[in-house]
Amino acid sequence: MVIGTGGTIASSGAGAVDLHNYSVTSTVQEILAAVPEVAELAELTSDQPVSVDSFKIDNPILLAIARSVLAAVANPRIDAVVVTHGTDTLEETAYFLHLAVRTVKPIVVVGAMRPANALSADGPLNLYNAVLIATSHASSGKGVLIVANNHVFGARDLAKRDTSAIGAIEGMKYGILAEISGDRVDFTHFPAKPHTVHSEFDLAQVEALPDVDIMFDHQGAGDHLYRASLEAGATAIVVAGMGNGSLSVGARQGALLAHQIGIPFIRASRTGQGIVAPLKSDVALGIIAGNSLTPQKARILAMLAIAHRKSGADLQAIFDRY
Ligand code: ASP
Repeated sequence: MVIGTGGTIASSGAGAVDLHNYSVTSTVQEILAAVPEVAELAELTSDQPVSVDSFKIDNPILLAIARSVLAAVANPRIDAVVVTHGTDTLEETAYFLHLAVRTVKPIVVVGAMRPANALSADGPLNLYNAVLIATSHASSGKGVLIVANNHVFGARDLAKRDTSAIGAIEGMKYGILAEISGDRVDFTHFPAKPHTVHSEFDLAQVEALPDVDIMFDHQGAGDHLYRASLEAGATAIVVAGMGNGSLSVGARQGALLAHQIGIPFIRASRTGQGIVAPLKSDVALGIIAGNSLTPQKARILAMLAIAHRKSGADLQAIFDRY
C-alpha cells in the first residue's frame, strides 16, 4: 500500500531549475505511474488521505494519515506500507507512526528535496528505494523506516538538517540503519527503544490529539509566550532549551506558571542531539526531562502520552522509555 500525503515528491514548479517555487500537483497514483520500475517490485495499491505540503499538517491530518496506515496494516492482503510525505515535517509523522501503529509489517516513509519536474529530481529513486525496503524481509519489525538518498534511517533518529541539500535528511549521531546500493539492501543497525508492535500507545483510544506547544529558548527570553500558551489551553509545553535543556529566567518562570496549573513542562534541547538529563532543579516544578528527543519529537511523544492520560512520574517514565 502506497499512501500519498503530498509534499515536494508530489510537487512541480514553473520550470526544471526552479527548485523552490512549487506546489503539490500530483496524486500518489501519478507519482507511481511516473516510476514504472516500482511495479516490478510489488503489486501496488494506493490511498490518498490528504495532499498537502507537510508544513500544513496539523493534528487532525496527522491522525488521518495514521488511520490510513492502520487500516492498511490491518488488511491481511497488505504486506507493507510506503508513505510519501513532505520532508519538512517527515520526522514528526514518522515518529508518530513509530509510536502509534502496532504492527510488524514494514512501514517506510519517503520524500524528496527537489520537485518532480526538477533537474535531477531525487523523488523517483527515493520512491523506488522505499518500495525496495518495504519489500525486504529484513525490514519487518524494525519500526518505521525512512528512506532518503540511498540511506535508511530509524524514525526516532532522523531529522531534516538542511533547507535544500539532497542529503538534508540525517540520522544525527545515531547514523543510518541500512544502506542501499542498486538492489542490494544492507542493514547494520536496529532500533533499541520500543516501537510499533512493542508500543503501549493505542490510537483506538484517541479521538483527538491534545495541543502541545514548543518554545524556543534564548538569551533574555521573557515569560509572555508561556502565559499566552497556557491561556490558549496548551495541555503541555516543550521547551527547546539551551545546551542540556537549560532554561532562561523567562522559561523557568514559564515552568512555574505551568506547574501552578498542573500543565506538564518538558525540557528538550535546541542543540538537536544529546540526552537532556533530569536535574535536581526540575523536582520542585515537576519538570520532565526530554531524554534525547528533539523538541519536535518530544512534542509528538507528549501528545500521545497525554492522550493516554499520563502525567507526572508516569510521563517521565515514558520519556525515559521511548
Ligand atoms: N515543503 C515541502 C514539504 O515538506 C518540502 C519537501 O517535501 O521537501 O512538504
